[in-house]
Amino acid sequence: MKIHFLGTAAAEGFPNAFCRCEHCLKARKLGGKNIRTRSSAIIDDVIKFDYSPDSYMQALRDDIDLGAIEHLLVTHTHSDHFNAYDLECRRTGIAHELQHPLHIYGNDAVMYHTRVAIGRFAGERFAFHLLRPYETITVGDARVTPLLADHDSMETCLLYVIEKEGKKLLYGHDSGWFPEATWAWLKGKQVDCAILDCTHGYTGKSRDRNHMCIETVLEAQREFRKENILKEEGHIIVTHFSHNSKLLHDEFEDIFKPAGIVVAHDGLIVHI
Ligand SMILES: [Zn+2]
Ligand SMILES: [Zn+2]
Ligand SMILES: [Zn+2]
Repeated sequence: MKIHFLGTAAAEGFPNAFCRCEHCLKARKLGGKNIRTRSSAIIDDVIKFDYSPDSYMQALRDDIDLGAIEHLLVTHTHSDHFNAYDLECRRTGIAHELQHPLHIYGNDAVMYHTRVAIGRFAGERFAFHLLRPYETITVGDARVTPLLADHDSMETCLLYVIEKEGKKLLYGHDSGWFPEATWAWLKGKQVDCAILDCTHGYTGKSRDRNHMCIETVLEAQREFRKENILKEEGHIIVTHFSHNSKLLHDEFEDIFKPAGIVVAHDGLIVHI
């Protein structure tokens, strides 16, 4: 399974284009892996997680054919994860020579926004699929299970487990410490890779709510071991970093390296 990280920042981007804090100034000056756009990832070139407001530029930057994406799994409707109006560029007469509709999956808020933005183009170019937590569906040649996140009390935010060609991936953000039902579902699942939220830096909270911090990621790693959730040789990859973490890419790497946790950056490609 190929995982291509398109964006690895929290909602405001890193640097935040409006911000003059020392961390944003430093990120601008150093460039490279310190420049993070809004979060999204592509699996095996055909399944995309979220459609961030930076999707267009990410596709140009990494030479990605968005017309080849068959399935879009949306975690929630926060503006850094879902920019439904932009998908109109895929409609008939505007995009040509497309071979298949784009299947869009998500909670009822995602379906509502999708219907308002592009509902009139459903059929040839789009298909919409309402998901319920813990109900497994087939997505192309993958099995996908949406799990409840702890992220926004006013929305049923979802995480995803993808099983494909004998590999299992947990796409675990945005979320704080997982809800009990999600921990129970994950027990013994032996995933090959878990992608976690590390929006905050050090907060001193080992079970942070809404987003994870460094201590919560390390606590989640302990829980994964205890409950047999991650394979022995499995990977944890952290993403969705905020400038309010006050940490640049190299600093996150120094912190997570001893725990064997990988720090994502824009454009990173991992094969599991
Ligand atoms: Zn987010
Ligand atoms: Zn800043
Ligand atoms: Zn969010």
